[in-house]
Formats: sequence, C-alpha cells, structure tokens
Amino acid sequence: MAEDFDLVILGSGPGGYVAAIRASQWGLKTAVVEKDDRLGGTCLNVGCIPTKALLYNAEVFELISNSKDFGIECGAVKLNWDAVRARQQAVVLKHNKGLEYLFRKHKIETIRGFGRLEGKGRIAVQGPAGSRTVSAKNIIVATGSEARMLPGLEPDGEKILTNREILASGNIPSKLVIIGAGAVGVEFASIYRRFGSEVILIEMLPRVLPLADEEISKELEKSLKRQGIKVLTGARVDKLERTPDGVQVAVSQGTDQQTVVASQALVAVGRRPNTAGIGLENTRAELERGYVKTNQFMETAEPGLYAVGDIVAGTPQLAHAAFMEGIVAVGRMGGKPVPAMNYRQVPDCVYCEPQVASVGLSEARAKEMGYAVKVGRFSFKANSKASVLGADEGFVKLVCEEQYGEILGAHLIGPQVTELIAEIVLAMRLEVTAEDILYTVHAHPTLAEVFFDAANAVYSLTINA
Ligand SMILES: Cc1cc2nc3c(=O)[nH]c(=O)nc-3n(C[C@H](O)[C@H](O)[C@H](O)COP(=O)(O)OP(=O)(O)OC[C@H]3O[C@@H](n4cnc5c(N)ncnc54)[C@H](O)[C@@H]3O)c2cc1C
Repeated sequence: MAEDFDLVILGSGPGGYVAAIRASQWGLKTAVVEKDDRLGGTCLNVGCIPTKALLYNAEVFELISNSKDFGIECGAVKLNWDAVRARQQAVVLKHNKGLEYLFRKHKIETIRGFGRLEGKGRIAVQGPAGSRTVSAKNIIVATGSEARMLPGLEPDGEKILTNREILASGNIPSKLVIIGAGAVGVEFASIYRRFGSEVILIEMLPRVLPLADEEISKELEKSLKRQGIKVLTGARVDKLERTPDGVQVAVSQGTDQQTVVASQALVAVGRRPNTAGIGLENTRAELERGYVKTNQFMETAEPGLYAVGDIVAGTPQLAHAAFMEGIVAVGRMGGKPVPAMNYRQVPDCVYCEPQVASVGLSEARAKEMGYAVKVGRFSFKANSKASVLGADEGFVKLVCEEQYGEILGAHLIGPQVTELIAEIVLAMRLEVTAEDILYTVHAHPTLAEVFFDAANAVYSLTINA
C-alpha cells in the first residue's frame, strides 16, 4: 500500500520547518506534526526571536538614556514594559503567521498533535482532533529541546523561571539571580541589567561563556562587571529555594560559602533533548545520553529515519545548525548532491552587550590539534566606525595556520560582531587565507575593516595600530 506521505517531520522548529519547505520544493509530499498551537518551535516562540527583540529594546533604551553623549538631550526616559512586551509578541506573531503562509504556499500539511514513532514509517498523532496514524517513506525527527532544571526543582512561573516563564513574565525583576553563564544566561543578564534589574550571574565553570575562546570570556566578564552585573565563576549552587519574598541560593566557591538573595531566579544550565516518549525505542536509532546519533547527513541507524536540530548528539544547539541539517537531510533522502554537515563552519553568536561571535577553532584547540598557529588581533578602539558609533569596546582575533595562513577560526567581541562573523564563515567555507583577506578591499569606514587589520596583524603588518 502506498504511504500517505513521502516525508513526515516531527516538530516545526528551525530543523523541521526548513526541511519541510525544501522537501516540498523538491516535490516530496510532506507533513509536519506539531504539538504546540504555534509553528516555529523554541527559536521563534521562546528562544532566538523574543530574546533578540528584547535585547534590541534594551539597546534602544540604553542609547536613548545615553543620548547626551551624542549631543541630544531627551529629558527623563521612561520604559513602558507592557509596550516592550507587546512589540516582542508582535515580532513573534508576524513570523508565526509567515510560517503558516509558507506551509500553505508549499502545500505542506500541518498535523496538530503529539507525534510518536510506531515502527518503520509509521507515526501515531494524538491531537485536538483525535488520534490518527500516518505512514511515510521517510521521517525526520526534529523535536528540539527544553530547559534543563536543577535536580529536584520545577519552574513555577513566579520565582523560579526558565526561558519560557521569564519571557511570559509581566514584570521586570528587581533582583535577578541567573544560574548558568552560557549564551542564554548572559543574554538575559544583558537584557535585565539594562532594564534596571540588579543581576547576579552564577557559573559553575571557571569563566563566563565557558566554551568561548579564553580571551573573549575574560573580556566579556570584565565588561559585564563594568555594567554592574555581579559575576560569580567557579561557583556551585548547592541549594536554590523559594522564600516568602523571592529566592535564596546557597553558593560555594572553593571553600567560601555565601547566600545570594533575589526576587527571582532564572535557571539557564543547558537544554535537554525532547526524545523521551516519542517512540524511538520502536526504531533502530541509537541514543547517546538521550541525544540521537546520526552521521553527517543526519541519517540515524534506521534506514529512512533522520534526526536534525537540538536532539542530535554532539552538535551545536543552534537554530542555523538545525536549518542546514534539515536541508542536508532532505537532500540526502532525495539523492541530491548536498555536502555533509561541517560543524567547524557553524558560527556561534551571543547577542549580549558587547556581542560575541566565533567560528572554527579557538587558539587553544588549534594548538591541541597540532597546528602551528599564528594569531592576528585588532581592537575596535582603533576602528573609526566603532568610534563613530560610540561603541569601541572589544576586539577581533583571527586564528590562522602558520605556513599557508589558512583561517582556522575567528573570535570576536564588540559592536555588531554577530553580523560581521558572516565574512569569516564564508572565508572558511572557501578555504580563504589571511592573505586573501588582507588584499580584500573593505569599505571605509566600516566595522568589517577589523578583519583587514587583523589579517595584516597575522603578518605583523598592522596599519591602524
Ligand atoms: C532563550 C534561548 C535563546 C536562543 N537564542 C538563539 C539564537 O539567538 N540563535 C540560535 O541559533 N539559537 C538560539 N537558541 C537555540 C535555538 O532555539 C535552538 O537551537 C533551535 O530552536 C533548535 O531547533 P529544533 O528544530 O531542533 O527544535 P525546537 O525549536 O525546539 O522545535 C521543536 C518543535 O518540536 C515540537 N515537538 C516536540 N516534540 C513533539 C512531538 N512528539 N510531536 C510533535 N511536535 C513535537 C515542539 O513543540 C517544537 O515546536 C536559543 C535558545 C533559547 C532557549
């Protein structure tokens, strides 16, 4: 009997929706199963987009509050939190509707409900319209992730929060303790500090953004402290409990112990994959600590079953990694000549203030891997566009292989670096050398000129410093 669909995708987040659109473009009859009311997953509804909307609000608020520095006097600047949240929700809703439109345009069927794998090519969906079983030649699992909690704790929506609850919160915390200084933790610290909260950031590992290049982590920590954020690194949370007025956190740093008191706590200690209860045990797919193992074409051990996005073992939990994994998976099942995923060329961006962006190997990792390394650094202090913007904090660091100057990695902290990193991602994909960047004409005055200067610095030929 013919299958109902060529492809059924579980989940409509970045991994699922991009795969669905590409599949439809290549003529596959496609359905997406989504348990939530809205399409778009974590990224659109409670992740990338609402946080970036709030971060931009914080940036505008700060700029207007400091407008005197630019010779503009505004008087007292007032924050209307309801209006800020309404704008954030409008941005999200616009793109929810956009996805619905794209699904209609590409004739992708949306099946509302919780999907569960029931053996080869079969998915049972339990939804508002009752239960239904569909069959498919191929299946992509893109069920994403949820916030990991501290043992024995549950978010309560009032005092103990994850990204979901804090984004739904109707108030700005007077004093916010954030547990975890990864991307999510530092972004929320950046938002609420600029909106006036007292913020304490607690990180168990020795530095903020523990996976970033060490120099970047140090620079960011200095900057966060300058902004008035209290940062505790190498600090273990022994206990987090509710009190009548808020929360109380017992923290140890080596032999020192202290109690941190706050009005609310945000737990940002990582994500756990949504792979329980979805019937993976009915397939040959292999798991590693709850994550699905795939090859670089996103194939699991079960023929015709693919996994993409946050549930994939050993890969970055980023929306744009999920986008490309969806495209690669669909290309593979359709016999198209798609390249294997190359995670070394996936940029990692943190939209805190100042922003952080990186791609490829850190200096330390490149050395560990046996490369002879040359590094070119350049500070935004000497970049004229950064001075024009009044945002000259930070630097760029190009990590290159010594003999040919191949770019192995780039690490940036400073103004708009989450936009700038695209130049180096493309350069790495094309195996460009530092010398190629040195002879690439960068428009003046632009922030992107830091790459020209850093490439010159690789050869000890810096012009502007
Ligand atoms: C606060 C925050 C900020 C972030 N900011 C960024 C950022 O700026 N840039 C970036 O690249 N990444 C960011 N991320 C990470 C990014 O959101 C994720 O990497 C991305 O959403 C993963 O996409 P996905 O498709 O794997 O899963 P998800 O986006 O989690 O989507 C999974 C979907 O599957 C659905 N689902 C789950 N189980 C089932 C089931 N059994 N049946 C039917 N449907 C199901 C879910 O309802 C959900 O809609 C952020 C994350 C957080 C939490």
